[in-house]
Amino acid sequence: MKKSILKISIIFIIIIMLITGGFFVTKLNMKFPDKVTYGNGTDAAYCADGGMYYIKNKCIYFLDSKNQINTVVCNKANCTHNTVSCNAYMEDFQAPTIICYGDYLYVSLSKSNISFNDGEASYTGLVKLDCIKCDGSSRRTIYSADSGAVTSMKAIGDKLYFTTWAYPDPSEYVLNSFVSTQTLYEYDLRWNKLKTVLEYPADENHEISRLDIVKGNVQDVYVMYDVYNKDGSQRTQLLKYDDNKMTVIKEYYIADFNDSKEYIDFVINESEQLEIIQTLLGEANDVLAVSSSNDCFQTKKLMFTIDDAHDIAMNDGYILFVNSDYNKIMLDCDSMNMYFATTCFEGEKYISDILDIDEENNAIYIDATDYTGILPGTIFYEDPKNQAVADFDVFMSNYFIDKASVNHDDIAKLTWVHFED
Ligand SMILES: [Zn+2]
Repeated sequence: MKKSILKISIIFIIIIMLITGGFFVTKLNMKFPDKVTYGNGTDAAYCADGGMYYIKNKCIYFLDSKNQINTVVCNKANCTHNTVSCNAYMEDFQAPTIICYGDYLYVSLSKSNISFNDGEASYTGLVKLDCIKCDGSSRRTIYSADSGAVTSMKAIGDKLYFTTWAYPDPSEYVLNSFVSTQTLYEYDLRWNKLKTVLEYPADENHEISRLDIVKGNVQDVYVMYDVYNKDGSQRTQLLKYDDNKMTVIKEYYIADFNDSKEYIDFVINESEQLEIIQTLLGEANDVLAVSSSNDCFQTKKLMFTIDDAHDIAMNDGYILFVNSDYNKIMLDCDSMNMYFATTCFEGEKYISDILDIDEENNAIYIDATDYTGILPGTIFYEDPKNQAVADFDVFMSNYFIDKASVNHDDIAKLTWVHFED
């Protein structure tokens, strides 16, 4: 499974998860048959003060970075943490995502089932956004629906914003149809009130659509609305929510995405904004272009391109780019510093997946499981990740090199990445 497919939407991750019920190992270049996809890793972990909250095997855990102890986020006496009465238990929900804000965790959950009767497919689903106290003392549901998923979340001030997709009518489900309604909600954390901010109703002409809150360390709500139309055209809009209205900041239009399908992503920080465009030219020939801007994409500057781009792990603070030969580049979105994985220059060496970074506390959260020797396409029915914390400085100095300290000629020799200097 290629990341470019994953990149269309988290919708597909969820659909794939519900079809397989398992964790994919991504289809990688045969030279490196040792990695699990990022697609369902990073959103299930979130670093907070002194540790990381994560979901493993249907339970929410907290990994304390100081003593490296994992605890279940449930403080109910005598709880076995495997029933619906447990505050940390996720039942059989697929691909949950988690953020921590204030004293609470916000966890998005979805499950669905497709059954067949006389060749007719029918769908049943359940979506929830639960609010759980960080000490595991209480849990309640702040949003629920009978189809789709929560696709992104961001908390600002006393508001929690989140996007969802949903089938217009789950009882009219059509197999392999992704025609859906996209909604941005605002949840008032003080008054516990839910409000619809923006809604794009399902449209038969929109084969696939998605609405996502843009990542970045900025105290504003930016959303991205992406539509693939039945006529082969693609429209992507970047919008800003301000003073109760949505303003289109930037619009992209492709008349025929069959020529070059583009997956566009943005990261918006206070001073620097990033635009990431992955162009799918052929089955295994993605080109990824990263541009920076400081006027919200009115003008922009190409930073670098990656050939045969395979995978992107995006976070508010950093992005990891991986190409099909398993070369990795990390971009620090705040300082705009770039780092090469040592494997770019030294050949094969295993580098753990990064789950989250807490640079302030010099901590990096990684998946410490060694996947060496696991074949592409392997499906795990239990989450194989083994969350651990490492010293950020030590990890970076062992496995990454600051681009500024690499010889210019050595960078020029890299055939898969091209910098605009
Ligand atoms: Zn419990």
